[in-house]
Amino acid sequence: MSINGAIKKQRSRRHLQKNIPMLNILSLIKIIICRLLSITIINVIFQIEVNIIMPLELNIEKIKRYAKQREDENWRFRTFLKGMDSENIDQIVHKLYETIRKKIDCTECGNCCNSLKPAVSQNEIRNLSSQLGMSIEIFEKKYLEKSDVKNNAFYFKDIPCKFLDGKICSIYNDRPETCGSYPHLHKSGFTSRSFFFLNQYEICPIIFNLYEQLKSKLNF
Ligand code: SF4
Ligand code: SF4
Repeated sequence: MSINGAIKKQRSRRHLQKNIPMLNILSLIKIIICRLLSITIINVIFQIEVNIIMPLELNIEKIKRYAKQREDENWRFRTFLKGMDSENIDQIVHKLYETIRKKIDCTECGNCCNSLKPAVSQNEIRNLSSQLGMSIEIFEKKYLEKSDVKNNAFYFKDIPCKFLDGKICSIYNDRPETCGSYPHLHKSGFTSRSFFFLNQYEICPIIFNLYEQLKSKLNF
């Protein structure tokens, strides 16, 4: 290579090195703008579409049948969700949840209380045993079982829950926190907790309908 050629090459390398930070900043700005735009577009679309809701399925027997039929599809949807922006998914899920939960009356369902064993904290055990006028030992013996995996964690042992009266919780004001926050759809991290929701798909009509709406909204 001639001396002139080598000098030119060195100059162009220096020029490139000088501009790399600028290129990085520009790429970063581009990424931020794209991200903001995608959030805004999803928000706008969703604002328009959130009210357009497919008919809800409330029949638990039908929901159980669909759960079997759609098992593979639901696993594929879970994988599909993992490739999406989790914050966007949370925004959509929260709006869907707000809409759907107003249309489903839990006092006409009670299926979670018929199917799950909620965790009960030490404070809740103390409070409930005192409300029911029994010692903690008797309360534990009568209603609780110890977790196999977590130390000092307790669950209600009976399915259906012993406190379920028809379709209503007889200890509503003192029910465990985990009962009050079920089906946990107001929390963030829907995508990372999708295994939990997949397991609850056949139990809770709110989760079933939200999952189906979400598939449709995301054109899955
Ligand atoms: S404590 Fe009440 S809300 Fe919780 S599972 Fe039992 S009946 Fe349902
Ligand atoms: S949370 Fe779900 S399963 Fe529980 S009562 Fe409400 S709709 Fe039914």
